Amino acid sequence: MVHANPPVILGLKKSFGFGDRLGLAGPGHLAALEKSTFTGVLAQQSMREMTRTRRRADQVVEAAQDAVNAAHYTRPWGADADHLKTEADIEMMAKAGFTYFTLDPTPAVVNAADTMKEAELRAEADKLVREGVLGPDWMARYLGDKWEVDNGPPLAFEEEPLLRAAVKFARATAETARLHNAVARHCPDRPFEVEVAVDETAKPTSHREHLFLALELKRRGVSFVGLAPRFVGKFEKGIDYVGDISVFTSELERHAAIARRLGPYKISVHSGSDKFSLYPFIGRICGELLHIKTAGTSYLEALRVIWRTNPDLFREIARYAAEHFAEERDAFLVSTTEEEVATLAAQWPVDPEPVYFEERVGRQLLHVTFGSVLVLGRRPGGLPFNEAIRETLAKHADDYREALDICLSRHLELLEAG
Ligand SMILES: [Zn+2]
Repeated sequence: MVHANPPVILGLKKSFGFGDRLGLAGPGHLAALEKSTFTGVLAQQSMREMTRTRRRADQVVEAAQDAVNAAHYTRPWGADADHLKTEADIEMMAKAGFTYFTLDPTPAVVNAADTMKEAELRAEADKLVREGVLGPDWMARYLGDKWEVDNGPPLAFEEEPLLRAAVKFARATAETARLHNAVARHCPDRPFEVEVAVDETAKPTSHREHLFLALELKRRGVSFVGLAPRFVGKFEKGIDYVGDISVFTSELERHAAIARRLGPYKISVHSGSDKFSLYPFIGRICGELLHIKTAGTSYLEALRVIWRTNPDLFREIARYAAEHFAEERDAFLVSTTEEEVATLAAQWPVDPEPVYFEERVGRQLLHVTFGSVLVLGRRPGGLPFNEAIRETLAKHADDYREALDICLSRHLELLEAG
């Protein structure tokens, strides 16, 4: 079937990613997007989310496409195959029609390099040369050079930080090149774009590490439109930024300057939902060279509509989520503890909406349990939660669209206010 407006590559325009775990959020996403100057990435799903929701790649693209068709949406939009780690994942996502491939070389990142002594770093770097990951003359390429970058003195490498960056990231750049080639092989006759994501490393990405990554990726012929560093502070799921905003902004200014100087490419902000205090700064600093990813916030808005229109169902989901919090929480960056969830679950609040939808514990509880709720959870009568949620949202489609529009317009407007 040929679609009037299929997903395409977006290039270096500021973009906003709308993850949709249920496949029903499209109308609300488009309502917010239509009022915004951002380009939309409507089908955005990580491999982890796909596994947890048991959705197929083609269903994810199809749901977004249906919403685009129904709304007669005519602006270009993209489809992000998020956090790809294997060629098999890439093949599947390419077949489904994704256009934006987020390559995640995290398994090849050597986090232990952060604390290695210089002798150890040298031994590891020698090993990388022996294995052919680095060329014999690799250090000469970086030492002595200076990179003029805005918002600070020129960046240069000294020997030890260079060794550390190389030991930490050289294998990851080789892995990224391998994944990049796989994307090219599986998209032989159509355009695609690539993002490189190192946002799930143990420590924040330093500016020199960013510089090393970008230079090595370039040397290996990897062309990318976005890079997701790990930022300082905490990007917890479902809540605003936790950390010092002035430190974040000065770090981001340099990251953005490196991206302008060496690309240009976009800075990609993952776990980008609900970071309201940062948005004006992020929007101002990155300008057009920005991509933001959100997902969980749209699922929480779905549950908010469930609460407002089918409170019994919501209460069952909240109880079930509390029972499954312990087994789900470790896969996500959240500070909410089992004790806090137990305290919350011990008593049904007089007014659940602020407790479950505005406060940290309730939001993170609902956020991390989407997998078990959508795949395993059932109502006392036996109907899967997944079907019950869909039934309720179908009946109240206008409410869901409006709730999403309000929530995501708030995100977009703050980004544009910078
Ligand atoms: Zn990520």
